[in-house]
Amino acid sequence: MQTRTAEERDAFHNVWVIAEHRWGETKAVTFELLSAARDLADKRGSEVWCILLGDGVRSSAAACIASGADVAVVVDAPALSEFVDQTYADLVSRFIATYRPEIVLCGATAYGRALAPRIAVQVDAGLTADCTSLEIDPESGDLLQTRPAFGGNIMATIRAATHRPQMATVRPRVLDLPTPDPGRSGRIVEEQIEPDDVTENVRIIRTIRDNTGTVPLADARFIIAGGRGVQGKEGFELLKSFAETVGGAVAASRAAVDAGWIDYAHQIGQTGQTVQPRVYVACGVSGQIQHLVGMQSANLIIAINRDRHAPIMQFADYAIVGDLFEILPAMMDEIRQL
Ligand SMILES: Cc1cc2nc3c(=O)[nH]c(=O)nc-3n(C[C@H](O)[C@H](O)[C@H](O)COP(=O)(O)OP(=O)(O)OC[C@H]3O[C@@H](n4cnc5c(N)ncnc54)[C@H](O)[C@@H]3O)c2cc1C
Repeated sequence: MQTRTAEERDAFHNVWVIAEHRWGETKAVTFELLSAARDLADKRGSEVWCILLGDGVRSSAAACIASGADVAVVVDAPALSEFVDQTYADLVSRFIATYRPEIVLCGATAYGRALAPRIAVQVDAGLTADCTSLEIDPESGDLLQTRPAFGGNIMATIRAATHRPQMATVRPRVLDLPTPDPGRSGRIVEEQIEPDDVTENVRIIRTIRDNTGTVPLADARFIIAGGRGVQGKEGFELLKSFAETVGGAVAASRAAVDAGWIDYAHQIGQTGQTVQPRVYVACGVSGQIQHLVGMQSANLIIAINRDRHAPIMQFADYAIVGDLFEILPAMMDEIRQL
């Protein structure tokens, strides 16, 4: 990777967010990134730019400006109606070569994970994947990118001091959403797609939305999660009826998923989903760091565990020591009487 001199690095300015616009909507992770980008840019005295690519994205520019962008770069074209990572990466790389951003942020979603590495290779940038927080050195502009390392047992802060731009993907729901200000003003820069930008290597024949894995965990206000202590598929039936009683969703630890008791779409943690419900009830989950990073932002955490010394019991707001197969039915009886 090409290292750059201080003089070369000084030619890079502003913080970019690559918006994620799919199925006709701009995803929440875009606004979370804009909130973080605003903070970084303010500390650096620079601007926030939001890059909107797709068919029908122009209408999202105002929302991005209201959420902190100073500039929305819009490429609104039918040729971009389907997400093709190579085409999108070629376009963004062209804009990076033209405008030279200091920092480029993407969501650590399937979209961002497909796009960011391609861009990073094309523009010869450093990329830190799956960050959980971002800070900046206001003097040098070095991005301080924090993410789990060594199997999640430590948090590492990474800086790519001699590279520009600096690129990071950030997990959804670990950053706060901004409060939109409809009175904010910003510039909209319309860019055109050129024939060379559309790759001929990939042709989308048909797109089918996968609904099989759509556990509504991301939006759930109440989540009940089971771990190895749930002991099998039957145990998860108990969790499902609890979730139905309170209108919540069922989640799982990796141990439960690996045992084949529940589908991977339910897994919470470093290699699963990140969630931020109002209430997270962890049943028979020991609370290893790889699980905690996926649910630590829940407003209220309740742990049910036979072992009072399990790490989750220290982490939880309420720790109930006992057998989940006795405690959950008793809690359901109480709730039904409310
Ligand atoms: C690179 C890497 C990535 C990983 N990613 C993830 C991830 O995304 N998500 C994840 O969850 N893990 C992940 N893991 C695995 C993680 O380290 C743990 O192994 C896993 O979270 C343990 O799952 P568990 O808590 O269900 O099982 P255990 O650690 O075995 O804990 C089971 C708990 O159940 C309790 N228990 C047993 N019976 C009962 C009962 N009847 N009533 C009440 N309590 C009971 C026990 O006291 C114990 O505390 C990852 C690991 C690595 C190395």
